[in-house]
Amino acid sequence: MLKSGISIGRLFGIPLRLHFSWFFIFALVTWALATNYFPGVYPEWSLTSSIVTGIITSLMFFGSVLLHELMHSVVAIKSGIPVKSITLFIFGGVSQITEEPSNPKLELKIAIAGPLTSLLLGGMFWVIFDMVPASFEYIIAVSFWLSLINIMLGVFNLLPGFPLDGGRVLRAILWWRSGNLRRATRWASNAGRGISFLFIFGGIWLIFQGPEWWFNGLWLAFIGWFLGNAAVGSYRQLTLQQMLQGHTVSEAMTRNCVKIQQHLTLNELVNEHILSTGNQCFVIADGDNIRGLITLKEVKAIPQEEWTDKKVTEAMLPFEDLMHVRPDEDLAHVLKVLTEEEIGQLPVVEGGNIIGMISRENLLAFINIRDKLGM
Ligand SMILES: [Zn+2]
Repeated sequence: MLKSGISIGRLFGIPLRLHFSWFFIFALVTWALATNYFPGVYPEWSLTSSIVTGIITSLMFFGSVLLHELMHSVVAIKSGIPVKSITLFIFGGVSQITEEPSNPKLELKIAIAGPLTSLLLGGMFWVIFDMVPASFEYIIAVSFWLSLINIMLGVFNLLPGFPLDGGRVLRAILWWRSGNLRRATRWASNAGRGISFLFIFGGIWLIFQGPEWWFNGLWLAFIGWFLGNAAVGSYRQLTLQQMLQGHTVSEAMTRNCVKIQQHLTLNELVNEHILSTGNQCFVIADGDNIRGLITLKEVKAIPQEEWTDKKVTEAMLPFEDLMHVRPDEDLAHVLKVLTEEEIGQLPVVEGGNIIGMISRENLLAFINIRDKLGM
């Protein structure tokens, strides 16, 4: 879900991204500060002052969230685990750490780095708030709010429900005690689901506590819902990963990718190859040379009235741009690539030839069949 968004540069070599939902939350925080919080505490401020202070405060808040994520990532990178990107979105930030830590101690270090940063920032802003003379009203207002929000962020993330940081800490401890990562993950994500239910019920309760509470209640319930989904999703992902491990692409791939020649038009492809055979994936070749790949998705991207004129080569995914896997690669690795790149399928390539396709459906079918056979 977090692939859509804009890139805002790099820090420590890690690409930073803003998801589109970030703009919504940025506007919401700024609006709440400028029209509600600051006017409540400093009624004598002009609207412009409140708005400008609101914008600066939200920017610093998101800087704080970024720093929290950055510290997770820096600890991961220092321990040799690559970090693909950091994305800020509606509920805060997420570091795309590409591998599960290899041992509980490392997991604990990576997990704790974020909340500690938030608590430290909270303390720092509190010191500023405390030391600055009373006449510096704007600095006092901003630092007080940032102190509270960072402490809240730190405490919230330490709640012991996976996939929150505190849940990762819990998982690391359970993992270390039991030596069983999968069981530790199950317990920690059950704790995550428990916390998500508490949030949802707490949120619904708040909604009925009067008109000034409904928004906070809704927000709390929304976070709870998101957390519950993430807890279930990340456990499922890990279970899948473990079931696929040790099996190769050639065991699960589809081999019926049909080779067609590059001079065909889209119309010919659709009429002579897709409609009559039901095949959905075609390798485009120039003699024996592979040029690219075309599936229904690429065909659909071209307006139908152009199908008679356009050649398949004009719509295909060129071979050199395609990510691909080898038939002897591990299925767990394929799942990781599909998830990270948010794509549905990958061509399987051997000796410069596309010999098949591997998709999410292939992986699920593979697991399903083995499950039914009790393997
Ligand atoms: Zn964190």
